[in-house]
Amino acid sequence: MSDPQATHLSDYRPPAFRVTRTDLTFDLDPAATRVKASLHMERHPQREAGLPLELAGEGLDLKAIALDGQPLEADEYSLSDSGLTVHRVPERFRLDTEVEIAPQVNTALEGLYRSGSMYCTQCEAEGFRRITFYPDRPDVMAIFTTTVIGDAEHEPVLLSNGNPVERGSLPNGRHFVTWEDPHPKPSYLFALVAGDLEKVEDAFTTASGRKVTLQIWVEEENLGKTDHAMASLKRAMHWDEQAYGREYDLDLFMIVAVNDFNMGAMENKGLNIFNSAAVLTHEHTATDAAFQRVESIVAHEYFHNWSGNRVTCRDWFQLSLKEGFTVYRDQCFSADTNSPAVKRRAL
Ligand SMILES: [Zn+2]
Repeated sequence: MSDPQATHLSDYRPPAFRVTRTDLTFDLDPAATRVKASLHMERHPQREAGLPLELAGEGLDLKAIALDGQPLEADEYSLSDSGLTVHRVPERFRLDTEVEIAPQVNTALEGLYRSGSMYCTQCEAEGFRRITFYPDRPDVMAIFTTTVIGDAEHEPVLLSNGNPVERGSLPNGRHFVTWEDPHPKPSYLFALVAGDLEKVEDAFTTASGRKVTLQIWVEEENLGKTDHAMASLKRAMHWDEQAYGREYDLDLFMIVAVNDFNMGAMENKGLNIFNSAAVLTHEHTATDAAFQRVESIVAHEYFHNWSGNRVTCRDWFQLSLKEGFTVYRDQCFSADTNSPAVKRRAL
């Protein structure tokens, strides 16, 4: 491990290249998951021509790399502990890489890891670089298409951001689902979940009359503990329309309860991932305070869809903008929903 390097706001520069489109394919395996990334890139108009392409990457085993379909020679790129440099690239190009990662030995709970028999991701702030080589910074926003391939028996459920657009069977007991997220997003909002999960489904009709499917995914023993979270979600969706005029912008909104999760919850676009303790309640075992806490966290993560996701940070010095504003919004929601008293919370 190298010593931590200080990052100064005054050193901020736009990225040398931006990504217009990111196509990912995950072939899941606990010890050897293959991740193919196809990045459609172009030079940032505010940066000078002729710069090398530098992508962040940690713990990735590079198996293949090609620029505009041509495999690169060993002297055309270099690898370090922190990433990949391609020495010469044109103004606009496609970079294809294939890497291997081992989710079962990833105990950092960042990037792609195993929680029990599930696969799960956590990418905020810099976890995506443990999944593939990428300009892993919030001011690079791209449209993502993600294909997840898994074992049909062990991973019958394959989730990612956006709307599911294709699914099918593959040889050797494998199957796949392809997801498209039409809204450009930074890599920290990427998510993937795969496993043997059960869902509770409901629906919400937006103010303009669009029907949104709502799903909460849990392990089987936690069915029966999702009613309060689902009701909270619907209240939050309605409140954001009333208070801020913001409608949900995809056809599907999913919450997944995960037992091993670093944070309370994470606002990944269309696929919020929660620590089980922050989303599951039962009237026989949970206190009033626990019910209020779940409602507040479900609403907070939902509100991030606009304050944080569609309108995101330029750099991590702006973290307090997306969090501060979203906490303000969830506090107003809780005050409107529960009582007029001022509400304060630590996070
Ligand atoms: Zn937040």
